[in-house]
Amino acid sequence: MSTPDASSPSSQPAGSSQPTGSSLPTATQLAAQVARGELSPQQALRSALERAEAARALNALISLNPHAEQQAAQVAERLAAGELLPLAGVPVVIKDNLNLRGTFTTCGSRMLEGYLSPYTATAAQRLISAGAVIVGKANMDEFAMGSSSETSAFGPTLNPWDHGRVPGGTSGGSAALVSAGVVPLSLGSDTGGSVRQPASFTGVYGFKPTYGRVSRYGLVAHASSLDQIGPFSRSAADLALVMGVIAGHDPLDATSLNAPASFQGAQPLPSPLRVGVVTESLQGNTPGVQAALARMLTALESLGASVQEVSLPSTAYAVAAYYLISTPEASSNLARYDGMAYGVRAAAPEVGASMGAARARGFGPEVKRRILMGTYALSSGYYDAYYSKAMKVRQLIAQDFARAFERFDVLVTPTSPFPAFRVGERSGDPLAMYAADVDTVAVSLAGVPALSVPMGFEEIGGNLLPVGIQLIAPALADERLIALAGALEEQGAVQMRTPGPVGS
Ligand code: GLN
Repeated sequence: MSTPDASSPSSQPAGSSQPTGSSLPTATQLAAQVARGELSPQQALRSALERAEAARALNALISLNPHAEQQAAQVAERLAAGELLPLAGVPVVIKDNLNLRGTFTTCGSRMLEGYLSPYTATAAQRLISAGAVIVGKANMDEFAMGSSSETSAFGPTLNPWDHGRVPGGTSGGSAALVSAGVVPLSLGSDTGGSVRQPASFTGVYGFKPTYGRVSRYGLVAHASSLDQIGPFSRSAADLALVMGVIAGHDPLDATSLNAPASFQGAQPLPSPLRVGVVTESLQGNTPGVQAALARMLTALESLGASVQEVSLPSTAYAVAAYYLISTPEASSNLARYDGMAYGVRAAAPEVGASMGAARARGFGPEVKRRILMGTYALSSGYYDAYYSKAMKVRQLIAQDFARAFERFDVLVTPTSPFPAFRVGERSGDPLAMYAADVDTVAVSLAGVPALSVPMGFEEIGGNLLPVGIQLIAPALADERLIALAGALEEQGAVQMRTPGPVGS
């Protein structure tokens, strides 16, 4: 096969944002310390809050959880009563499109100003039940639309590796907080790449599970046939730990899968592992991304894998299909924000004018663009030309993956063709922003699981910028990806480092 260019740049160039090497314990280590009584949940929370304060410049948190102290105290009581808690005292952050009872859930939008969650999302509830303490809610692109975390009403989130650059989106806040070592675990949501791409831009793991593996109950909907909650972490063991907690059937989500989960314990990998590198993802990458891809393939080969190229021809249309499917879904999901049922009410003499004013004032430009595009694609006369064609393309893409998985156990692509771009670089050009999803959206349309693995750095402008490589598995083989990440870690192939202190 044609191997990607591995000649340059080196994986460890010098740069102004040198990693410190200091790192927060993983969630697995922290939970063990707390369970042994070496650290109280309250102490763990306090130091997470101190780190959050030190990382304020990143603008990665929208709010703190006013009930965090109380949660920590409850964990201490449960431990004292002899309960075994897999996430005992682990401070976590959740994206601000996940409901947490008694906290404001903003989705990064002015529209939801003052909306106090009356209930808790299943994934968040499972974290709490497992002993985690929710420190706060993470910044994000408005209503999870974007690829940079710049469209939030609360201002852009910055990349811990270079404050002039974006952390990726839409779960940029959740990614930045794990990257900067504020918390060892966080939750994001991924509709077309929103966990994987920010993970790649900030140098941590980001996992999008099989569609339906994690309950969407309590996740504010963007595009319901694609939305999936997923974790960020700094170790494969932590991914297994958190997936073991949040995955599993939930009667409150009609699309939740009832599949047995076996995230904990050693997972045997298929042997020999058959790896397919997706031909369509080999073009248009920066040298640093090509080099990281080459390193991944070498690492897989030294684990005994066979590596071959495989073409997924329909993925060439994935970005177009994704935006013609996600925007119609978004336009119907967002119809509820009218200032009556949900959203800030606008005073007007009659109801239509009030709704119009509420939507005009509450939504930012990208959300409005999506609603207009989605409504257009669904409208009579255009439905057949756009939406229904895109749905056919979605089938073809799913078939491409199914065919490839007859011959391969795992597929590999870059997570993004380039590392983090500059704040403002793409925000004036929606198409350039949509193009940032070229490597992630096909996976979402097919509903299969994928993991972004940090595989090194590209030096740009004197700064080290992380680069992630995407591993993709068949539906319900989520465990395989995490096990493979664990094997790559053991081999020393995964490049998990901590950026220099914020403000340095
Ligand atoms: N960038 C894609 C979009 O804007 C994906 C967003 C996401 O995964 N939430 O729709």
